[in-house]
Formats: sequence, C-alpha cells, structure tokens
Amino acid sequence: MSAPRNQRIVLASRPKGAPTPANFRLEEADVPKPAEGQVLLKILYLSLDPYMRGRMDDAESYATPVAINAVMEGGTVGEVIESRHAAFKPGDFALSHSGWQSFAVAEAQSLRKLAPAQAPLSTALGVLGMPGFTAYAGLLNIGKPKPGETVVVAAATGAVGSAVGQIARIQSARAVGIAGGAAKCAFLLNELGFDAAIDHCSPSFAADLAAACPKGIDVYFENVGGKVFEAVVPLLNTFARVPVCGVIAQYNATGPVEGPNHLPDFMRTVLTKSLTIRGFIQREFASDREAFYTAMAQWIASGQVKYKEDIVEGLANAPQAFIGLLQGKNFGKLVIKL
Ligand code: NDP
Repeated sequence: MSAPRNQRIVLASRPKGAPTPANFRLEEADVPKPAEGQVLLKILYLSLDPYMRGRMDDAESYATPVAINAVMEGGTVGEVIESRHAAFKPGDFALSHSGWQSFAVAEAQSLRKLAPAQAPLSTALGVLGMPGFTAYAGLLNIGKPKPGETVVVAAATGAVGSAVGQIARIQSARAVGIAGGAAKCAFLLNELGFDAAIDHCSPSFAADLAAACPKGIDVYFENVGGKVFEAVVPLLNTFARVPVCGVIAQYNATGPVEGPNHLPDFMRTVLTKSLTIRGFIQREFASDREAFYTAMAQWIASGQVKYKEDIVEGLANAPQAFIGLLQGKNFGKLVIKL
C-alpha cells in the first residue's frame, strides 16, 4: 500500500470581488513529520468562516493575509496520529488551526484537547467553538441585553447569529432574527424559538422588520451591513447598543459602496439617540473563554441552545462551499468533513 499523501488547498490568486474556483488550487504533498514538542494530525473537520475572505486579500486588516501558494487558513479538528509531546497520544482528538489540508503538524501547546463523549467533534468549530464564543462575548459584553428588550440579529440561522438569538432569549430578551428565505425563517421560529423572523429577500423587508419591532430595537448584533443595517438604523432606540461583529454583505466589494453618503445623518443619529456602536474581534474577550465553554455546554445539555450544521463532504468541495457561504447558500454552521 502506498504511503498517504497530504491533500491541501492553496491560495492560487487573489480574488477581484467574489472569489471563484480559479482562486484556489488542490495540491498533493508529503505528509509532514512532527519535531520534538509537536504532533501529527489527521484532519477530520475543517471550518469554513466568512473571515477567510479577508485573508485572501492583500489589504490592511487586523490579521496578515494568506500568501499566494500558501495553504488556506482555517480552524480544524484532527486526530493525533503521532505525538512527540507527553500531553498527547495517538487516538486523541484536538482543535487546531491547521488550514485547508488533510494532514498537519502542530505545536502540542497550541492545541485544545477534545472529548468526543461530551459533544460531537464538529461542534468545536461552531456552537462550542469560535463562532459560539463570538456570539457570547459580543452579545454579553457589548450588547448587554436586559429582560424585555428587543435584540435583532441578521445571518440569524448561521453559526454566530443562531447563538446570539438563543443567548438573548436566555437573558429574557425578545429575539428577532433576519435570514434569507422562507425555510431559514421557519427554522428560526419553529426550531430555535426566536420571537420573530424576517426574510431580508422580501421586497417588504424594511416594513416587516419595523412591524416585528413595535417597541424599537435595543440591541442590534451586526453581522451583515448593507441594506439590513439601513433598515435597522431608524428603529434603534435611545441608548441602543450595536456590537459590530461582521459586515458580510460588503466582503466581496471592490471599492466604496455606491449610493448616497448617509454617514453625516448616521452620526447625528448616534448623537441624538446616545447610541453605542462598538466593533470587536472575538479574541479581545479571550479571558471569557472558559466561562463560555461551561455555560454553552450547559445550555446545549438543557436544550436552551440548539445548533444546526451544514456539513459538506470532501476537501475538494471546500472552495465551492466557501463561495456559497458568501452568497447565503449555507444553512447552519458550514463544516467540511474530510
Ligand atoms: P454564517 O454561518 O451566518 O454564514 C454567513 C451568512 O451570512 C449566510 O448564510 C447568509 O445568511 C449571510 N449572508 C451572506 N452573504 C450575505 C449578503 N450579501 N447579504 C446579507 N446576508 C448575507 O456565518 P458566521 O456565523 O460564521 O458569521 C456571521 C458574521 O460574523 C460574519 O459577518 C462574520 O464575518 C462575523 N464574525 C466575526 C467575528 C469577530 O470576531 N468579529 C468572528 C466570527 C464571525 P442569510 O441567507 O440568512 O442571509
């Protein structure tokens, strides 16, 4: 039997606007060997996340871009095949940041050991991982919802948004979700227990949102930007809080968004309504991470938080799945099963 080879997807070129399959290349390489203090991982699950679009650009950002011909970056769950560190043995499972490839070596000290008996391994990339933590940290530190307040979140069936709405309900707030299409909206109401669900594809979207928020909006958890944010701003209450988590509608933009410049009007609204608008990157709240793991595991066990995964099989399908993520084609946390 021939030795296994490492399948990996590299960044072939930088996209102009929306990424295309030509921006990625599937390659084969030797399986790497672990040095002292390292482990060799066989990757089982790869997380696909919107932030990866930013890593494909060579623009100033909070993180360095992926270099051309380098392996695409990404969170992964892997099985330890070989260990040169006392803390891991073959057969252990670990969370790593190994990128779009089937084998990887990693520093043992950078890994989080996973217990498959406690939760399905893939959840370490979603509800019990970075996206779930993003929802928890952004909503509780910046949004600070109070009982009876109205919390609105877009991309609401996704990895972050679904957790935001459910945590808002745990805080006894009203959760209003915005999502693309009737099936996603039905899921928000019937499965996740949101109080209202609004379809941003509907021509009456802005009026529907206003009708679903008769007492205005106290917390808007911003995942999307664009026309959704435009519909939200007139509904914001005095002292509303806006954790700015992402603006996915703008990630493929190649320049300033066309149309009238609303910025001076918006600043007047910020002043007259005493709004708090606060951008954040989840790792700013790293000291909350252990509390998150404990709380989220309990909420899942008690049924107060449910999650949906969109699992696509095969590393070769990662580019198309990622392109679809930026068009709303995923339904739940997007994960590649290798
Ligand atoms: P999701 O699982 O929610 O998937 C993305 C969703 O965004 C799509 O399913 C779609 O939902 C919506 N979407 C895509 N394109 C558009 C568009 N052009 N206009 C409107 N909606 C669109 O992704 P995540 O939960 O992983 O991420 C949600 C947001 O959180 C992103 O903006 C991401 O960048 C951000 N984020 C920020 C972090 C931070 O530290 N600040 C950390 C992690 C994520 P629908 O069909 O319902 O519209």
